Amino acid sequence: MRIGHGFDAHRFGAARPLVIGGVTVPHPQGLLAHSDGDVLVHALCDALLGAAGLGDIGRHFPDSSAEYAGVDSRVLLRRVVALLGEQGLEVGNADLTVVAQAPKLAPHVPAIRATLASDLGVDPSRVNVKATTTEGMGFTGRGEGMAAHAVVLLVERKASPVAPA
Ligand code: MG
Repeated sequence: MRIGHGFDAHRFGAARPLVIGGVTVPHPQGLLAHSDGDVLVHALCDALLGAAGLGDIGRHFPDSSAEYAGVDSRVLLRRVVALLGEQGLEVGNADLTVVAQAPKLAPHVPAIRATLASDLGVDPSRVNVKATTTEGMGFTGRGEGMAAHAVVLLVERKASPVAPA
């Protein structure tokens, strides 16, 4: 088993949709970023890459590259999962926490779970999504931005059973 941790934060301020965990969440502001600003998917990608010993999201998808301007972060996530597959690794489970004063994420958690589980190739029961405020403290509390933490466990893919001769 291999464990990985990821963290990301982005600033509010863009007149664009707010996308969290691949799901568009109604909110007056989106997050500023080179990509679509999906802070939760970025934290998840970093946790996956970290567990596999493959560096971080910035190394694989540099924000200096025009290729990733405005990119749907789920595309990056699926590429990371493919990299893990090349290493013979698959996701055991993921535990994810979004930190934001607003919007309320609870109504969107089932859709986020289903979306991320689909990209990770696992049952939604293996993807836990939590949200918390910071009770008005710090940059998230002041509504300046959002942050996300991710912890994942990777497991070595089981060898395919040998077909009987
Ligand atoms: Mg990011």
